[in-house]
Amino acid sequence: MTDKVAVVTGSNKGIGYGIVKELCSRGVSTVYLTARDVKRGQQSVENLKREGFKPEFHQLDVTDSKSVEKFANHLKQKHGGLDILINNAAIIQQNIMKTTYEEAKKVMDVNYRSMFIIEKYLFPILKQNARVINVSSDLGHISNLKNSYWINRLTKDDIEVQDIDDFVDWFLASIKNGTLKEEDFAVTAYLAYRMSKVAVCALTRVQYRKIDRNISINSLHPGFVKTDMTQHNGFMTVEQSGKTPVYLALDCDQSVKGKFIWYDKSENDWTNRNLALLCTDKDSVQKYVTLLISRT
Ligand code: NDP
Repeated sequence: MTDKVAVVTGSNKGIGYGIVKELCSRGVSTVYLTARDVKRGQQSVENLKREGFKPEFHQLDVTDSKSVEKFANHLKQKHGGLDILINNAAIIQQNIMKTTYEEAKKVMDVNYRSMFIIEKYLFPILKQNARVINVSSDLGHISNLKNSYWINRLTKDDIEVQDIDDFVDWFLASIKNGTLKEEDFAVTAYLAYRMSKVAVCALTRVQYRKIDRNISINSLHPGFVKTDMTQHNGFMTVEQSGKTPVYLALDCDQSVKGKFIWYDKSENDWTNRNLALLCTDKDSVQKYVTLLISRT
């Protein structure tokens, strides 16, 4: 039994659910399965209990300050804080090739801007040597972006939140005003989602430098996993996808900070704009998109 308190956001299904299961099976004493919808969350806790696991449940909508504050107060009062925080909750756009400004903004609000609500209420109660894992994506690697000005601002060593906020504002404004240029991006499929995950990885590079208490913060590509988000395409089950996040939470050296971790536990240089990834290969993406469209 590992005497730690762990929290996984958006864990009523998918990868988050797999992470909760893995944390429980590794003997972490208190694991919070959280969900924005109480019914869905409690149902998932019941499912895990039937398998012999004993996660706790708490409501948590990462975009709702009141919900996050309430949960933070609960954790402080009941446990004095937390040791492991896995920021997993996210959404993807419905239309693969195009998105409206409203939807792109929503994707940014849930996937990127919610991180500041989490930072405000949950970071202060993180214990000494705590670990934070920001679940990003291969679609969040810097090679997804081709605009040199933004690549330079996001990859510099002394990046600040303002750089990322400016990037997100520029992206959203370009959708709103119809000024978006395809050549600024490697691939335009799921573009708002891609750019939200670029922002998450960039933010991780700020957060790890600013936080004290020897806390480690890393971002992660969890692999291509069969979940609702991928319409159950992928080469990993949710159970398999829980392994690397839990490795980062329990086994990895505390000195690993501000890195972009791949699902096989290796480190990928997030700042390398020339890294050839499958998610930025136009032909591969086109094949995947064609498959998805043919199924809908
Ligand atoms: P799913 O869509 O299966 O699950 C997403 C989870 O996030 C659900 O529990 C959902 O809750 C929750 N969620 C959404 N919005 C909020 C919110 N405002 N507050 C709290 N919870 C919320 O996705 P995956 O499991 O596939 O994805 C998990 C993470 O992994 C995401 O960050 C995703 O971007 C990332 N990822 C996934 C990949 C894959 O191949 N599956 C590949 C790369 C990255 P609800 O049920 O209420 O909607």
